[in-house]
Order: sequence, then C-alpha cells, then structure tokens
Amino acid sequence: MTDVNAQLSFTHTVTERFLRYAVIDTQSDPASPTCPSTEKQKDLGRLLVRELQEMGVGDAHVDPHGYVYATIPANTDKHVPVICFCSHMDTSPDCSGKDVKPQVVKNYRGGDILLPADPAQMIRIADNPALKDQIGNDIITTDGTTLLGADNKAGLAEIMDAAYYLINNSQLKHGTIKILFTPDEEIGRGVDKVDLKKLAADFAYTVDGETAGNIEDESFSADGVTITIQGVSAHPGFAKGKMEHAIKIAARIIEGLPKDASPETTEGRQGFLHPIGIEGALEQTTLGFIVRDFADEGLKAKEDLLENIVQQVMQDFPHSSYRIEIKQQYRNMKQVIDRHPEIVDYAMEAIRRAGLTPNKASIRGGTDGSRLSFMGLPCPNIFAGEHAFHSRTEWVSVQDMEAAVRTIVHLAMIWEERA
Ligand SMILES: [Zn+2]
Repeated sequence: MTDVNAQLSFTHTVTERFLRYAVIDTQSDPASPTCPSTEKQKDLGRLLVRELQEMGVGDAHVDPHGYVYATIPANTDKHVPVICFCSHMDTSPDCSGKDVKPQVVKNYRGGDILLPADPAQMIRIADNPALKDQIGNDIITTDGTTLLGADNKAGLAEIMDAAYYLINNSQLKHGTIKILFTPDEEIGRGVDKVDLKKLAADFAYTVDGETAGNIEDESFSADGVTITIQGVSAHPGFAKGKMEHAIKIAARIIEGLPKDASPETTEGRQGFLHPIGIEGALEQTTLGFIVRDFADEGLKAKEDLLENIVQQVMQDFPHSSYRIEIKQQYRNMKQVIDRHPEIVDYAMEAIRRAGLTPNKASIRGGTDGSRLSFMGLPCPNIFAGEHAFHSRTEWVSVQDMEAAVRTIVHLAMIWEERA
C-alpha cells in the first residue's frame, strides 16, 4: 500500500497530462441541438483515445456522439465487479475556454494569487479559504482571461494517469476497469447518449468533486415547474372592474415566495424554490421555476407551497385561471447508492490509503452520476481537486491531482481485494 504511494509520488505525469488537455477548447453550447453540442469536444476525445491506445488499451474509441469508451482488462482470477471511472470533457459555457494559458505557481506561500494577464481577476484567499490547505503546494491557474477547465480536465488527467499506472504495474491486482469520458455535462446532457449496455459496468465513480478527500454520495432532487396564468383582457380605457392582468398576478406570486427558501438564502442541506424565467403579456403570462431539495418529500412540500401561493393570489382574480406543470429533472442519487454501501465504503478506504482524511459530502446540484444512478449504474462523485470552477479564477493543485490518482489506483485494488 505504501509502496503504491511512494512509487506514485515519483510520477508527475498527471500534471503534464492536465496541461495538455487544458489548452484544448472544449466549451459546450446549450443552444446547439447536436451531440456533442460542439464538434471541438471530439478533438480532446481523439487525443485521449490516442493516448489510451499508446498505453495498450486496444478498445479505446470515440463514438459518433463524442463519448470515449475504454477497457482495462482484469488481471486477477477473482470475480470482481466491473468498475467505471467517469469524467466530462466539456467546459462551462459561462466563461471562455479558448486559448487557455495555464501557469503553475510553485511552492505556494499563502496570500492572494495574481493572474498575469488581468490584475482584476486575482485569486483571493478571502474567496478561496481552501487555499489555506495548499501551503507549499504547486497551484495551477490561468492567466486570468479564461477559465482553467480543471472542471473536469483534472478528472480526465487523473483517470488517465491511474490507468497508465495500473497497466504498467501488473503486480497490482484489479478487476475489469471501464473508462467513460462524456461530452456536454455542463449543459445537462452528459449522459443523454451514453450506451450503458456497451459500457457494461456494475458501479461507477465520477471524478469531478472539489476538495481533496471528498466523496459525494448525495445530490439534490430536482423538478422544473411551469405556471401559466390566464388573465382577463380589456380595453385599458374601459377596464374598470373587468381587467385581470396576468403580469400583475405573476408579480404577486413572485412576491409571495418564501424569502428563506431561495438560492441566495440557503446552504448546506436546505432546498429552495427559484424562479428562472417570466414571459408574457396582459392575457397570458408564464412563470418558470426550478425546485431543489435533498428529500423527495421536501421537494413535494415546496411544490405544494408554490401551488398554495398561486391559489391564494388567484382568489383576488375570480375570472382568471392557472395551469401548473411539474417535470422531474433528476433525483438524489443517495436513494440508489445506499443499496450498495460498499461503493462509498471502498472509496472512503481508498482515500484513507491515499493519505487523506475522507469526508462524505452532498452536492447542491446534480452530476452525471445522479442520472447514471437512476439509469441503473450507481455512481457517487469523488474529488478531482478543482476549485472556483466556471470562472477565470479557477485553480487546482498538483498535489491534489496526485492524491486523486492514488485514490483511483487504491480504489481499483480494494474492489479486487474485497471480492
Ligand atoms: Zn464538472
């Protein structure tokens, strides 16, 4: 076990890999109807496949939808569950990912980090308390003009490096390991075209978490709600006692929302009710909401509350009507993952063996893993080390990436050991 850590501490290839992937523009585009949403994501996919094939992973390929699949064959006689490691190749549409120029700040001494091309984009310790745990580490940032894309290219580099290590150290026993790299995660379509039959894995881990040592087995449960209000139109000069203005009804509904259940007033395990769009005129107005909670009952309670507010408001508008539509978006993956406690237990043990303190956490959002879990592939999220993602102040440390590589290697071995 210590041998693995010692040996891995002399390979710094994860950083080289990361820097190679970070400069390839893979921004996804929510307005595009195609899959992948941007063809350039395949540039990175093809590079990853080439590198996998050079390692000897013969079946590595990019499919027409931009997904990368690969298999590291088992090197044990034991019957071990097939484990998949998964990361996404795209970067967020919220911030440019073109011409990324990474810098490595060696032996970080504390304090704010200057970004050379834009002094306004300093990485401030006040906004990044996690920097306090990085003293003496090497921190990778951009020049301040783009995002870094450690979300999720750190994960790609870590999985690739772990694969390289496993393949070149046949004395380390493991079952069949699957690799899955997805496009378009940032626009919510990361698993739309995944072929789980072809992947043929029993359990999976996304490597897309923040702080080193974290494992996340819980995500939000999420619904979208649309409320359509039908008002009563009349000529404004002769509207007294007749007009019922749909925009004004909508405004009353928004005003009635609980102040303590919105994104800007909640954290931790609290859910929220959040208007995301309004569109309309006098006669008809449509309101869009997203509803989030860790418990399905909490989700239902928030939706009931919303409908109550609507009914209350509508009492003052007797000739108007409303329609409410609720659409399921995704569910808390814990419901699925808890049926197989070993998935998280082994990950916690792997994190420990990698020399870190494991920390079980929940995600205030969804991941590819939330949807994969409900598609039949239970999939918690382990740390990749990415911080301040989707921004120009994004950063990742070399040492956290190396810790993630160790974690993946140990995890593969633990599944074999316990089989
Ligand atoms: Zn991500």
